[in-house]
Amino acid sequence: MKWNRIVQVLAGAAALSMAASFPGSAQVPQAERPGIPGNSPSPLAARDMSAMAKEAEGWLADLIKINTSNPPGNEQIAAMYISGILAKEGIQAEIIDMAPGRSALVARLRSSVVANPSKALLLVAHLDTVPVDKSRWSVDPFGAVIKDGYLYGRGAIDDKGMVAANLAVFISLKRTMAHLNRDVIFLATDDEEGGGEASIRMLIAKHWDKFAAGFAINEGGNVFLKNGKVQYTGVQADEKVAYNIAVIARGTSGHASQPTKDNPVVHLAAAVAKLGNYSAPVRFTSIARRYFEGLAALEDDDIGKWMRSMETPDRGEHAQRVISDASPLWNSMMRDTIAPTVLTAGVANNVIPAEARANLNVRLLPGDTIDKVLNDLNKLVNDPQVKLELQPNAGLAAPSSSLESDFYAVISKVVAQEFGGAPALPFQSTWLTDSAQLRLHQVQAYGLVPFPLAQEDLKRMHGDDERIPLASFDKGVDVLAKIVSEFAVTH
Ligand SMILES: [Zn+2]
Repeated sequence: MKWNRIVQVLAGAAALSMAASFPGSAQVPQAERPGIPGNSPSPLAARDMSAMAKEAEGWLADLIKINTSNPPGNEQIAAMYISGILAKEGIQAEIIDMAPGRSALVARLRSSVVANPSKALLLVAHLDTVPVDKSRWSVDPFGAVIKDGYLYGRGAIDDKGMVAANLAVFISLKRTMAHLNRDVIFLATDDEEGGGEASIRMLIAKHWDKFAAGFAINEGGNVFLKNGKVQYTGVQADEKVAYNIAVIARGTSGHASQPTKDNPVVHLAAAVAKLGNYSAPVRFTSIARRYFEGLAALEDDDIGKWMRSMETPDRGEHAQRVISDASPLWNSMMRDTIAPTVLTAGVANNVIPAEARANLNVRLLPGDTIDKVLNDLNKLVNDPQVKLELQPNAGLAAPSSSLESDFYAVISKVVAQEFGGAPALPFQSTWLTDSAQLRLHQVQAYGLVPFPLAQEDLKRMHGDDERIPLASFDKGVDVLAKIVSEFAVTH
């Protein structure tokens, strides 16, 4: 990095940290906020955290204003901003440079002189976001605009909301001089959305000793609002594994005025149609089984009845079809899925090309193998002109986190208390998170974005007009504080 660049970065971080000392700029009056029903009356601890949550709203707004769209990421500026906030609290953070302009940040609150990594609790969230299509947003995606009780901006939910919430909880432990029974580590990662050379994979490979932990809380699960009430909290304990497969059709190129039977465009189209309409066999992992068992009791009678029948010999197949058709999420939780995503073919309107290609994005249930799936798909396509090729950079198959751990028990207990009795259900995400890498290092990692969110808001993640209801943010900060306090503080 060149010196003038350092000056720019430092000046930027200083301006932002001044902004951070006026968090009131991001606040809205309580009355304007959409309510989150189902909250239990707040005792003292919650009142303390509500001031903290207001402060954290300001941090979240500032983080949104730091554009960390990946690529290129530029997470270093966000890491420096956080480092400034922590420094004011007397917490020395370490910025770990991963690539030019790209950094992670780690900070630790110690429970004792000698660290015990197997007991430590990691609060992890990522600094980068997916890019935006500005023309499709109704507000500036990096303006942190507040409207009708919502804070708008890229990363509001994924995952700067969690960065700010983790920061609030971490700082509140320090301010209250909490007596910790285990180290609590704050980790902000970079390149989560890209998963490249600056991501957690490399961070673990090079710097594991700096944040080694036995337990982690990360994104991956959600608090699901339905009809204005929390229906359940999905605590992610496992995730599907992603692969890309290239479908390549080859034939003879020639003049489009004399079509031939081996036109690769036609062969590719036929193969993609078969692959896209294919439904892999249903298999229930133990986590998905527990999820559906729990959810059956919360859904309406009809859906509940079919959910409970999915493994019965007589009605099982029909029940699986009803539930699959009712929700793409449920469908993807019970089978491997194949989604054609990219088509490439042709060089000119009057030329039959020699090759046509498609990409399949494949998501396997934990435990399934790609070799078997490739074999099944090859049989399905059944065309000597079409080849399937596995692409590099596959996702990682990791063990699931235990549903018997003390930390899972604490999370389940606290969310049920805080969300009016709506239960925690173990959740197997169809999307990838940094937790797979952590689980491969014996971390009991659980995914829980603690903000109650309706489908309407969840679907804006990675989409347009991403936003978070500030009331949900505040509630999530409080819930996260209670979870961490119950698990890591000696009372
Ligand atoms: Zn994310």
